[in-house]
Amino acid sequence: MNLLNGSIQIERLSGRSVPSGCCRFLLRRRIMTKSKKAFLDKYKHPLWQKRRLEIFEKAKFQCQMCYLEDKTLHVHHQYYEYGKDPWDYPDESLHCLCEDCHKKAESNKKALKELAKIFPPYDAGEMLGYMYVVYKEIT
Ligand SMILES: [Zn+2]
Repeated sequence: MNLLNGSIQIERLSGRSVPSGCCRFLLRRRIMTKSKKAFLDKYKHPLWQKRRLEIFEKAKFQCQMCYLEDKTLHVHHQYYEYGKDPWDYPDESLHCLCEDCHKKAESNKKALKELAKIFPPYDAGEMLGYMYVVYKEIT
């Protein structure tokens, strides 16, 4: 893609003219925003609403980490796979969590993703062993 084509595509998307020097960045940002919106719209889909209710019912409307029942509940995806819809995950990977525990779980998932960039897959066993030792020390 050359900058001129990028500029034309952005004009078509936004209806505005943009400086050609930042076309590539803006085009990528625009596409990411559209795809993120499409992804977030899936959480309004009736299939997700049904699946979400199934997970809440299975957990008896109780957070699976702190066991509190009087907080706003969320369904946490343990992981995401490219191309899958939010409702296309097995029960074992979906967790009913309260708002606070969901924030912690999302934060932990981000930290694990960063670790996964550092450790090659053949070190996963060693990493899990180390995590177990640290977990036992802090609990
Ligand atoms: Zn909780």
